[in-house]
Amino acid sequence: MNLLDSKLQPILNTVQLRNAGEPEFHQAAREVLESLGRVITKHPEYSEEALIERICEPERQIIFRVPWIDDSGQVRINRGFRVQFNSALGPYKGGIRFHPSVNIGIIKFLGFEQTFKNALTGLPIGGGKGGSDFNPRGRSDREIMRFCQSFMIELHRHIGEYIDVPAGDIGVGGREVGYMFGMYKRLTNRYEAGVLTGKGLSFGGSRARKEATGFGTVYFTQRMLETKGSGLDGKRCVVSGSGNVAIYAIEKIQKFGGKVVACSDSDGYVVDDAGIDLNIIKEIKEIRRGRIAEYVELKGEGCRYIKGGSIWDVPCEVALPCATQNELSADDAKTLIKNGIIVVAEGANMPCKPEAVRLFQEANIMFAPGKAANAGGVATSALEMQQNASRDSWTFEKTEDRLAEIMHNIHDACAQTAEEYDAPGDYVIGANIAGFVRVAEAMRAMGVI
Ligand code: GLU
Repeated sequence: MNLLDSKLQPILNTVQLRNAGEPEFHQAAREVLESLGRVITKHPEYSEEALIERICEPERQIIFRVPWIDDSGQVRINRGFRVQFNSALGPYKGGIRFHPSVNIGIIKFLGFEQTFKNALTGLPIGGGKGGSDFNPRGRSDREIMRFCQSFMIELHRHIGEYIDVPAGDIGVGGREVGYMFGMYKRLTNRYEAGVLTGKGLSFGGSRARKEATGFGTVYFTQRMLETKGSGLDGKRCVVSGSGNVAIYAIEKIQKFGGKVVACSDSDGYVVDDAGIDLNIIKEIKEIRRGRIAEYVELKGEGCRYIKGGSIWDVPCEVALPCATQNELSADDAKTLIKNGIIVVAEGANMPCKPEAVRLFQEANIMFAPGKAANAGGVATSALEMQQNASRDSWTFEKTEDRLAEIMHNIHDACAQTAEEYDAPGDYVIGANIAGFVRVAEAMRAMGVI
C-alpha cells in the first residue's frame, strides 16, 4: 500500500538513493512523508524551494575514528558519529548512543526523528544525534572512561552550547556524560555547562532529567486515556526494556495506579502478576549494572523469567515499548489486539514496525508515536540548558511541573493538528504535521540555506 502523495514520492526516491543501505532512515523518512501530503494540499507553499527535500538531508554528518586502550593493554578501534540534522529552531540537540548496532543510517534516522520531536516541545532546539558502535556491555568503569575521553577528543571541535548539545541515549547515562563533560572542559578550558545535558546534579545537571523520558511518556498516555474518560488507574501494563526510560515509566504508571506486570532486556523478559517490584529493577540496573534474569532470584516466588520470546505475548491493556527501534512486529501487534490492548505509546524511538502501527490504527487502538510520547527527555534537556544559561537550579517539583505542562501541550497540539487535517485521533499525522510545520516555518523565513 503506497500512502505517499505523488509529489512526495520523488523525494523519498532521492532519500533512498542518497542513503543507500540505510533501511531505518528510509523507514523514518517514509513515515513522515506519508503524513505530509495533507499539508502540501492545504499549504502548497511548503512544497516550494525544495523545502521538504532540504528537511530530509542532514546539514552535516561527521564520522570519526575512536581509538582506546582496553584493560589488557590492547588498542581497540570504534567508529564515532554525529549527525547535525537541522538547526532551524536552535542548536542541534539530541543524544549519543553507544551500542554495537550503531551505524550512520541508525544515527540519521534518530537525528531526523529528533528534529520533529524537538520542534514539538515548542522549545528552541534543533535536531541531531550521535553515537558509536562501541559495546559497553561487560566493560570496566576505567574502559568506559577511556572510551568516553577518546570519543570527546574528536567530538569537542564540533559541539558547543550555541552549536550542538549532546546528551545520553541507549548505553549513555550520567556516568558517560560526566566523563565526556570532564574531557570537554579540559580540552576547551571553559566551564561551558550548557554543552551537554543529562549531567550530574553537582555540575549543572537538572533535577528530573533522569526521570523525564519515562515520566513524560506516562503523562502523555494518561492524557490520551483521559480524552476517552479513562485513565491508567487499575490498568494492566507492559513496559519493554529496563533502562532509564522503562524504569521511570514504570514508576509513574504505578503512581497513577496502574499495574506493570512485565519488563525486559535484550536477553528475555520477566513477568510478575503481583506487579513488578521497581526497587529490585533499580538494584539490578542502576547498582549492579546486571541483567533482568536476576529479578527472579531476588524476588523469589510468584514471578517467572522467559529467555528470548516476545514480551508482547503478555496480555495487557497498556503497552509502552521502551527498548529500541523495530522491537514490536506486526505479529506482536496482532497478539496485543487479540488480548485487548487499549493504548500503545512509544517510549523508545520508532519501536513499532510500520505494519504494527497500521494494525493498531485499523483496530482503533490509541497509538502515540515516539516523537510525541517520548519528547519529555529532550524537553527536560532544554530546561537544563535554560538553568545553565541563567546559572540557576530548579527544584524537582518545578521541573516536573514544567515537564507535565509540556507533555500536555504536545498531546493537545498533536490532537488538534490531527483534527485540523481531517484525521481525528491520529497522533501520527498530528505529530508529524505539527513538528514539520514548526521547522518548515522557520526554514522558509530564513531563505534557501
Ligand atoms: N536521547 C533522548 C531522545 O531520544 C534525549 C535527547 C536529549 O536529551 O538531547 O530524545
